[in-house]
Amino acid sequence: MAKKIQYNISALLLLAIILMVPAVSQAAGEEKAETKSKNSTFILTVAKPLIVTTIKPLAIIAKSAVGDAADVTYLLPANQAPHNFSLPVSALNKIAQADLVIWVGADFETRSAKTMAALASSKLITALETEGHNAIAQGKPHQHSMENDPHIWLNPQSGNRLAAEIQSRLGLPIKQIISAEEVTQLRDTLTATMASAQGKTYLTHHDAYGHFAEAFGLPLGLSIRDTSGGAQGAKSQYQLRKNILQANVSCVFVEPQYHNKDAVIIAAEFSLPLIALDPQGQSQPIHGNAYREFIAALVVQFKACFQ
Ligand SMILES: [Zn+2]
Repeated sequence: MAKKIQYNISALLLLAIILMVPAVSQAAGEEKAETKSKNSTFILTVAKPLIVTTIKPLAIIAKSAVGDAADVTYLLPANQAPHNFSLPVSALNKIAQADLVIWVGADFETRSAKTMAALASSKLITALETEGHNAIAQGKPHQHSMENDPHIWLNPQSGNRLAAEIQSRLGLPIKQIISAEEVTQLRDTLTATMASAQGKTYLTHHDAYGHFAEAFGLPLGLSIRDTSGGAQGAKSQYQLRKNILQANVSCVFVEPQYHNKDAVIIAAEFSLPLIALDPQGQSQPIHGNAYREFIAALVVQFKACFQ
């Protein structure tokens, strides 16, 4: 009898152990889940600062400036023409989430001026202002004037100036995103190509390359449209054709975000080759070395016109 009871107790103990095992492992699972949720809360509190730029070239500069220290995103789809675009509602949400917002300025992004003016100045960088322009106060855009050409991201010096402003806002060490040596090297390869294409120039979709031409010792070139991408009047169209005949034009550049109908017509009219140019960095991935690659790619694209 006593033996039977002992056996039963052992059996009960065994049963209890079997029943307890899943209970223990369930408790361990809960603990794990709790740690996990604690971890994600932790990740949220140390999230990287978010930089939101209007156009992709500014995101290329920002990412090159901050590397892994911040997340960078841009608002305008890269395949859209960047002049005078309107910010969609989704863009306003991203701006609200951003720690730092970067735009070119009111001359370039007229329709975003009201949104940007409402932001705290500590949260906003106006790229044209880092150049000494007072973009918001400036009135109508002036055509064919380098000083008012808003495509400043095409000049490595301006790229470095904007990068320094971003770095200082985030408390990061100031360092260049493209060095003077690298620019000189690129400029030398272009100069060598240009030397064998004596006196030749180029025709662009719109007047956007003054800063690039200045930085890389290129002729200013001719353009079909003005600096904001607007179509010219009939008189200017006539003058342009006269200028093409007088100048030694080597190619017509086309940009992926425009339909380029007028460029294609002129190229056919004057039997000129069409060469693709990507001033918005549409095919440039965004990473810590993006600006160098972007500028180097533009140099290759310009060289293609003269080879
Ligand atoms: Zn443009």
